[in-house]
Amino acid sequence: MLSNIRIVLVQTFHPGNIGAAVRAMKTMGLSDLVLVNPRQFPDPEATRLAAGAEDLVEGARVVDSLAAAVGDCVQVVGASARLRSLPLPHFDEPDAMARELVEHAAHDPVALVFGRERFGLTNDEIALCSHQVSIPANPDYGILNLSQAVQVLAYEVFSAWRRRPDNGYCPTRPAQERQPSREQLAHFHDHLSQVMQRSGFITQPHARTEAHLHTLFARAQPSRRELSLLRGLLASFESHLSQD
Ligand code: SAH
Repeated sequence: MLSNIRIVLVQTFHPGNIGAAVRAMKTMGLSDLVLVNPRQFPDPEATRLAAGAEDLVEGARVVDSLAAAVGDCVQVVGASARLRSLPLPHFDEPDAMARELVEHAAHDPVALVFGRERFGLTNDEIALCSHQVSIPANPDYGILNLSQAVQVLAYEVFSAWRRRPDNGYCPTRPAQERQPSREQLAHFHDHLSQVMQRSGFITQPHARTEAHLHTLFARAQPSRRELSLLRGLLASFESHLSQD
């Protein structure tokens, strides 16, 4: 279950923060680390600060986009000190986030995403997330060091896992009732844009309309069954369009 919980660090500047983050992860039983375009990695500073968690540093995967890091995940929670930068479902309380994440992780991969030391996550990166979470902190000084933010959220995840009500027993939920992966959802959005354009609903790619629809489906959290129903509906519209 904990092995389904991935930590993603986006474009980390200081290699030491990668080391401190893996130490934080390992203390809380997490081991899956993905680095999106780190400035410098591998690096002796990362290994030094890992302090006994070098196996996680060695096992880290490096990818070149956030989409590649989280494509297979069914829930992707972006950690952000700035409140509600986009109208995604937002967890104000990390423990509530952790309970939900652990529940999904019983069946499918999920991710917690952390931004750059200097400017966090971009709006495009937040749009790839399904949720956002903020760690409540001093309103006048509320930004934590990257690895400390990893520690706090990893602790919440570990606590939620220890206290899970069913004590580890997870009845298998049929795949169709579970959440689609981010990649499946992205294919649906591509399909929807194509049909909107081909039907004349929009005349060219329209970022605002698409952003509104993304928000709508982020709130609705359709299951895989509901998403295939929508795909079927779009395909049927398309078949009529091609007859015209
Ligand atoms: N200067 C950046 C913050 C960088 S801190 C900004 O203004 O956004 C590096 C990362 O640590 C953030 O991107 C976020 O993922 C995490 N982080 C730091 N403080 C946090 C908080 N209070 N709540 C949630 N995540 C936080």
